[in-house]
Amino acid sequence: MAIELLIKNGVVYDPINGVNGEKKDICIRDGKVVAEVKNPTVLDAKGRVVMPGGVDVHAHIAGGKVNSGRLFRPEDGRRGSEPKTTACRACSGYSVPNTFATGYRYAKMGYTFVMEPAMPPLAARHTHEELIDTPILDNATIPLIDNNWMTMDYVKSGDIDLLAAYIAWIIKATKGYGVKVVNPGGTEAWAWAKNCDLNDAVPHFDVTPAEIVKALAEANEKFEMPHSIHVHGNMLGHPGNYEMTLDTYDLVKGVKATKDRPVMHATHTQFFAYGGTTWGDFESKAKAIADYVNNNEHVSIDLGSVILGDTTTMTADGPMEYSLHQITGRKWTNHDVELETGSGITPFLYSGKVSVHTLQWAIGMELALLIKDPWKVALTTDHPNAGPFVGYPILISMLMSKKRRDESAADMHSAIYKKAELPSIDRELDLYEIAIITRAGTAKILGLDAHGKGHLGLGADADVAIYDITPEERDAGKIQKAFLNTKYTIKGGQVVVMDGEVVAAPAGRTFFVTPECDPKLTEEMMPNLKDKFEHYYSVTFANYPVQDAYVPNPYEIKAPMRG
Ligand SMILES: [Zn+2]
Repeated sequence: MAIELLIKNGVVYDPINGVNGEKKDICIRDGKVVAEVKNPTVLDAKGRVVMPGGVDVHAHIAGGKVNSGRLFRPEDGRRGSEPKTTACRACSGYSVPNTFATGYRYAKMGYTFVMEPAMPPLAARHTHEELIDTPILDNATIPLIDNNWMTMDYVKSGDIDLLAAYIAWIIKATKGYGVKVVNPGGTEAWAWAKNCDLNDAVPHFDVTPAEIVKALAEANEKFEMPHSIHVHGNMLGHPGNYEMTLDTYDLVKGVKATKDRPVMHATHTQFFAYGGTTWGDFESKAKAIADYVNNNEHVSIDLGSVILGDTTTMTADGPMEYSLHQITGRKWTNHDVELETGSGITPFLYSGKVSVHTLQWAIGMELALLIKDPWKVALTTDHPNAGPFVGYPILISMLMSKKRRDESAADMHSAIYKKAELPSIDRELDLYEIAIITRAGTAKILGLDAHGKGHLGLGADADVAIYDITPEERDAGKIQKAFLNTKYTIKGGQVVVMDGEVVAAPAGRTFFVTPECDPKLTEEMMPNLKDKFEHYYSVTFANYPVQDAYVPNPYEIKAPMRG
């Protein structure tokens, strides 16, 4: 028998379908939105705000470095501990929650899809195992491909077709979703205790980060990939990096997208919008970044906004973590992934009494408020780097209330009035815009709107968040509270959160992309790949690809090859 649900009397924000605060019923049958239902369970939303399930474009929730972060910070583990309940397993961790806490806390915020954006290909099994273990959320993960020896070989040779054959192979081998770039060339250089500017040659490979980024964008567009390349550029977190950021965007300006989307997603842009030459004359350059994004169509961004307080930073950008450790003197760990990538971890405290942190806090919000088109912007904290994802409701309330921003700024370092734009920005986002930067736009950036995510049109996945506020609510504290704990979250037609408590925890699905490469190109690429396994990898070629068992609830997206 069909399982039916009718959500009555909600005020719906569904930007992909142009629905802006309309009183509208939502009919659900067998996990999908349908036109009508016959014998449904009725859920009365009583005038509350209703949105599609949230879609997070970038949060580090699973895999080797996340798990190392848990082990590395027992103090953080204790901070987030919660006992098991009838529906939930025991939780631990605040900035690096365990898999269960990750699923439950996202669901409580009305999120139903999260992208893990940095999978070392060699550690793909571990990443998928953690994603399997993360309840409720649908998910996907993007393999790191930019510091890879095979990639750099083909960038050097200038053969974009063979590079495309390789990325197709590795995305398939890892059950990944696209192409992730993190400090291109810089993480490989870090194995030689160096780092890379955009135009420095990578030691022993004689290719530059600029060449890597452009070639990967071209190779990605050889297929009808749902998502563009996903780029964490060079010199993250360094004063004066905004010019290199704009140069990086410019690299792909002429690359033609095979789908109706940008050709580059620039991630956690707050960390790349810095002026000055040292931490002494550090200042916000969010306006320069926003102007560029306003005047161009080939780049989307996510914020990487700062949540004040203690967190754990972790990234494949090994040299960046080392320089952060040098600044703070706090514990630090670093890791090399053979032939592919690396990572580092160090704890960090963002304080509103420190000028640099205050400016970082301002920059994330400036980007959201100065970029005119919300479809180009995604709300993230680069969880956990600029703060844990449970801080999203704080950000939402800030973006919706100038008064709240002003009150917070008044308590912070005075640098905010001299070196940031935020105090002079009056814009307040409305619920429609919040729905775009947290689900509709993020689903589009990831190409998931075509696969039932980020909207509530007919045939969409019945992922729905009902927030315990009416559209008229102006109290920033109440808005924050509502976005932290939904009245109801519905995932695939099933109520999973009720009155802010998790009541059911079904397994999520893993979305992955299969680029369909011309077999002749794959054959041509293969000898080089097999040579790498024979001479350098500590695993064999046959043992490398992730078996189907690691994706027990699969959702496959095929990406045909183009010209
Ligand atoms: Zn990240």
